[in-house]
Amino acid sequence: MNIEDAGSIENHRGREEGFTVYPVYSRRSGGLSIGINLYPDKKCCNFDCRYCEVFPFANSVRFSQTVMESGLRKAIARAAARDVPVKDICFSGNGEPSISPDFAPALLAAASIRDEAAAGADLVVISNGTGLLREDCFNFLEGAVRPPVSARLWLKLDAGSSEWYEKIDGCDIGFERLTAAIKKFSASNGCVIQTMHCSVNGESPSVEEVCSWAELTAEIAKPGNVRLVQIYGKARPSPHDPACATLPSSSLEERAGALQMAFETAGVRCTPVAVYE
Ligand code: SF4
Repeated sequence: MNIEDAGSIENHRGREEGFTVYPVYSRRSGGLSIGINLYPDKKCCNFDCRYCEVFPFANSVRFSQTVMESGLRKAIARAAARDVPVKDICFSGNGEPSISPDFAPALLAAASIRDEAAAGADLVVISNGTGLLREDCFNFLEGAVRPPVSARLWLKLDAGSSEWYEKIDGCDIGFERLTAAIKKFSASNGCVIQTMHCSVNGESPSVEEVCSWAELTAEIAKPGNVRLVQIYGKARPSPHDPACATLPSSSLEERAGALQMAFETAGVRCTPVAVYE
């Protein structure tokens, strides 16, 4: 199935209907984002985030790079025909892109199509960072964030402690191991840090947890390669609702304030912080 069959997809639900390419309006990109979904057949992730928007589904559609390339070209052409700039081409979809065997060739193909047809668009990979634990993937991503691919890696960092990490991300991959890999990568490579701020089973992140997260984020940003920290609230339904819930905007601002204080203490000066309710 490709974008021509899809018509106009207005939200992310299309990715659960077998679509490989799904244009959406993205609040974080501030415009048209063309999503690439490596898992049109089922969710495939090594995290189980309580706020995850992917609802259970299964079908017989398999990822095809040919379909992806054709769908991406068509989506870019349709945007151009409507005079809508493509803000980014984004690998996200129904799971963690870096655990797909199709990830590397698909990213390189998308970079080529971007260069040909949408040179102003960013090429974004939204990842939970676990690919950085594998040497081959770490090395691939290190190359991919540099020219000519120039991908932008957006890394998840929802917690400052293993306790909150296990609660919000539902993952048993060691927190220290994962954050060490993120620190190692960001020490010499550009990236964006993304943090979800929501409650889990009626519990909000504690003051201590927010401080730990702010200090850890400052440590990651200290070498100067983190382009942006995005703190975002839960805005869309998830299968775990209502156990996972939105927090007030004042709470998001407090979290951003804690981060700014940690940045000042650590001497981090050039990393902007954005809040998305
Ligand atoms: S890492 Fe992403 S896809 Fe995986 S469970 Fe979390 S939100 Fe869902």
